[in-house]
Amino acid sequence: MGNSISASIVFQRKKNPTGFPSRPSIVGPATKSYPVCLECLSILRREGSAKCPGCSFPLCNKPDCLSGRSHSGECRQLANLKGDFVLDWQTRNNIVYAAVFVLRALNLEREDPEEWKEVDFLMPGDTTDLRDSFAGDVLDILGRALGQPADEDRVLRIMGIRRTNANAMSAEGKQGNLLYPVYALMNSNCYSNTFYTLTEDEEEGGGRFKMEVRAQVDIAEGEEITTRYVCSFDCLPGRQIKIWQNWRFLCRCRRCSDPTDLGTYFSALRCRACPGGEGFLLPAATDVLNPPWRCDSCGHCEGPRHVTERLSECQRLVKEGLFASRPAELWERLSRELHPNHFLMCTLRQKRFFVRDRFDPKVERDLEDMVATGEKLLEVVTAIDPGFTQRRGRILKVLARDRMMLARLRRELRLIGEKEFKSALRLAAAECKTMALCFLNG
Ligand SMILES: [Zn+2]
Ligand SMILES: [Zn+2]
Ligand SMILES: [Zn+2]
Ligand SMILES: [Zn+2]
Repeated sequence: MGNSISASIVFQRKKNPTGFPSRPSIVGPATKSYPVCLECLSILRREGSAKCPGCSFPLCNKPDCLSGRSHSGECRQLANLKGDFVLDWQTRNNIVYAAVFVLRALNLEREDPEEWKEVDFLMPGDTTDLRDSFAGDVLDILGRALGQPADEDRVLRIMGIRRTNANAMSAEGKQGNLLYPVYALMNSNCYSNTFYTLTEDEEEGGGRFKMEVRAQVDIAEGEEITTRYVCSFDCLPGRQIKIWQNWRFLCRCRRCSDPTDLGTYFSALRCRACPGGEGFLLPAATDVLNPPWRCDSCGHCEGPRHVTERLSECQRLVKEGLFASRPAELWERLSRELHPNHFLMCTLRQKRFFVRDRFDPKVERDLEDMVATGEKLLEVVTAIDPGFTQRRGRILKVLARDRMMLARLRRELRLIGEKEFKSALRLAAAECKTMALCFLNG
């Protein structure tokens, strides 16, 4: 398994001088943006921000941002707006920022045709909805900034390329999109063989992010390298709808093509028509959005709306704070609705495992319960997202510790002999080793 670490592809210029760029080709504000610093993309408050002397857009009040190079490229163009834009400091409804990303793309096209080619190679997806919504406002702003009408098809294409391919910035207090043309060529798969990290590049500064894509399992020669667009810890309808809304395609990956989420029943609800409650509702089809659901035992069908309502109700219960006040009741109510491996049950299980309430490490039953909880969680996590992942590492860290404590306690209480004690320790040691690989990979 050691290969999987050496198999890491690292998108970092220094380590990889021939190919993958470490820096994004375009960095810019999000389409729906709070007022952000056009240099470092920090979300700004009216108080304390400075005005760019060139274009009047707000910037962070610090020298690096006031004279940075990210913004200098479009400053003169934005100055043509003559400060004629009203910022809403409380919401993301600042369409003027949607135009900045497009402007940066148009400037890249003019200034670096080679790099632009990589961007222009990407797929924009279906942009009809953009044409019908705010593209008109963006075109108007661009026309004024450029001093001539912007080409509508070109602008829509850039907006589509951004929506389909750009990564959202994940840094605290910052908001924006980063476009890495090489990464964008990787296909989405909810059962992907890599994960990526985006970290702020200290050396580059000014909203520069370094992307690293790492293998989480061994990847065979010739095998497609895939990435995931949505979190692995979400149910089938949740993933499909998010992917559809953001990227306009129906995910047909191995996991999304299997109504059982690879045998885990991660999306399954209990069937109310089954006499003994032994059946589970699963999506009756995976090649359409919002399919009907069918019981795997009695064949009973439910419409998508009914299932969505049941799910929303469960989600509401989880959010309501019952976990803190009445955890047993919450568990009981969700158990009546969902498969024990449903992602909401796993979410609760994960919370119980990491946030320990009424847990006494000197009580054998408490420890036993936690080891069982950790093992169950690990089983599902490994099935839906195998390999050396951060989540698996975090679970293993706590599980190995609990397992050792349980073994020691049982030996003290003379519940187990030396042989069983040693075998528990060996298992815990193996878990620690895997944990280390998970964290080394991150
Ligand atoms: Zn700044
Ligand atoms: Zn400026
Ligand atoms: Zn999928
Ligand atoms: Zn049934």
